[in-house]
Amino acid sequence: MTNPFRQVLEQSVVVFSQNYLPVCRVNIKRAIVLLVTEKAEPLDFSSEQSGWLVRSPSVVVQVPKHIRLKIASSERTWKAPPVNRREVLRRDRHTCQYCGSSKHLTLDHVIPRSRGGQHKWDNVVTACERCNSKKETRCLTKQECIPV
Ligand SMILES: [Zn+2]
Repeated sequence: MTNPFRQVLEQSVVVFSQNYLPVCRVNIKRAIVLLVTEKAEPLDFSSEQSGWLVRSPSVVVQVPKHIRLKIASSERTWKAPPVNRREVLRRDRHTCQYCGSSKHLTLDHVIPRSRGGQHKWDNVVTACERCNSKKETRCLTKQECIPV
């Protein structure tokens, strides 16, 4: 094992729905529970797929970086984390999604709320104050917003 056990437990796993859509991220302990209870199965995207080998006194579990839910109607049994600053910044690795800056970060609605954009995972990104104010409500695509 290259990783100390504690470090492994801090890793997160991406959960996909039955339709192979990313639903959310869970910590590795939650992922193990889903795998062991057969609510999810490992999902491999590439041959270089790596994961973590987690040992407990009774079981050894190979935990992949991506898992797919096997249970139906995941929306009802599965609650995605709330769209809040902490979770969005984490997903976007604390970088502005327009220019890559890691300073003065805010949340930005890709389609502005004034134009009907929703406060949902696929419409909220991390943006620095500069890009956010530059964008105002005119831009619709990321490319338009890259500062020159
Ligand atoms: Zn920026």
